[in-house]
Amino acid sequence: MSLHLFNTLSRTKELFIPLKDKSVGLYTCGPTVYNYMHIGNLRSFLFEDILKRTLFFNSYKVKHVMNITDVGHLTSDADTGEDKMLTGAQREKKTVWEIADFYTKAFLVDAQKLNLIPPKILCKATDHIKEQIALIQRLEQKRFTYVAGGNVYFDTSKLADYGKLARLDLKAQTKARTEKDSHKRNPHDFVLWFTKSKFQEQEMKWPSPWGPAGYPGWHIECSAMSMKYLGEQFDIHCGGIDHIPVHHTNEIAQSEAATGKKPWVKYWLHNEFLVLSPGEKMAKSGNNFVILSTLEEKGFHPLDYRYFCLGTQYRMPLMFSYEAMAGARNARKKLVEKVLELKKAKKRKENLPLSKKYLQQFNDQINDDLNTPQALATMWELLKDEVLSGKEKYTLLLKFDEVLGLGLQKLKEEKIPAHVIKLAQERLHARNTKDWQKADELRQKIIGLGYSVGDTTEGYEVKKSANGPS
Ligand code: AMP
Ligand code: ZN
Repeated sequence: MSLHLFNTLSRTKELFIPLKDKSVGLYTCGPTVYNYMHIGNLRSFLFEDILKRTLFFNSYKVKHVMNITDVGHLTSDADTGEDKMLTGAQREKKTVWEIADFYTKAFLVDAQKLNLIPPKILCKATDHIKEQIALIQRLEQKRFTYVAGGNVYFDTSKLADYGKLARLDLKAQTKARTEKDSHKRNPHDFVLWFTKSKFQEQEMKWPSPWGPAGYPGWHIECSAMSMKYLGEQFDIHCGGIDHIPVHHTNEIAQSEAATGKKPWVKYWLHNEFLVLSPGEKMAKSGNNFVILSTLEEKGFHPLDYRYFCLGTQYRMPLMFSYEAMAGARNARKKLVEKVLELKKAKKRKENLPLSKKYLQQFNDQINDDLNTPQALATMWELLKDEVLSGKEKYTLLLKFDEVLGLGLQKLKEEKIPAHVIKLAQERLHARNTKDWQKADELRQKIIGLGYSVGDTTEGYEVKKSANGPS
């Protein structure tokens, strides 16, 4: 099966055909760096990583651009509320620049732990002010803008198909947005440039044609940076479903109004939320969010979270719980043990048709809009297969892992520390001399250190326990 992806624009699963041969331009909305990413945000980046790996699996070249939002994102999508960066700076008594730097680095550490393939270009909004101003000027020349109350706005009434991604019913729109900002001519108009700060102590400000010390609205950065690096039309744009009605809708409006080329982006892909209970999404504004290091403190490996996310297709809500995380940890642990066993397997007669059948099955599932839960099921089916040789299974697993990204190729046999081996040897001696009580005490000691010990014909076997982090 060739690659099919669910395009939010058409609300259907479509055959993926890139604009140019085998090269794909991919833009993913990156983190707003005023706090740690919660594991809901990380679900979004994991889905995009699986997408990118699937494109590689299908022999495409991928130019992946991700932005870092370090300016302009207010707490409300309707250009009102607090400045997120300023809120972070006040909370931690640091400058906004320090906050941006700190949380960008923290995000990159998480990304590495989750085995995310880094984007080709990681670009900060604050490094691209010139490009954002130029794009606003282009819109101004085409009369898509107006200045009111100290801000430059995008006039959505000038664009016939405004709101097509979200299928907004513009006639039935509420007054809520205009009430919050009386300068807007139409409820969905949005700020392109704040000509002067609404906030005291605003540190991030730049001179522009509209005033000496302003800053960009949130949406313009993604249009300016994606087009700078990927051209005026490109293949795929991703983000969470919360971006459909405002952020991505406004990105499309700005970009298509500026270039006159439609569609700006061919495929729009959006992930569903990580939720705490049905309908309750994990959010930075709520006080209920969990970050990756919290999971680590509770004894989970970051890849346990990756495995957990793979268990649900990206367009389905995913319910978080520590019980479900423990299930993912056990499954991954079992997988690691099996892979290490298979790694040692000697070559045996090959069964190419069966090998091909598994690969085809995996390919069809992952190409069916990234059906990772089914792909995982195929992986377990393969592990239980009694016909294929260990070597063939190992080769296939590594192939599957090019998409799943569970780091199977890099797995190494866990080195058992010398003091644990010494205890196991003492236990063996106690058993040989029939001192069962001592043997049992030593076994308990070994378990307490996070290992298990079993008897074999040669003596003993020590392993790291299944429920400890690897
Ligand atoms: P932000 O740092 O707020 O710009 O968000 C980064 C990404 O996380 C965006 O693509 C959001 O749509 C996405 N996101 C936010 N909350 C969740 C959630 N609970 N589950 C999944 N994705 C989310
Ligand atoms: Zn964006």
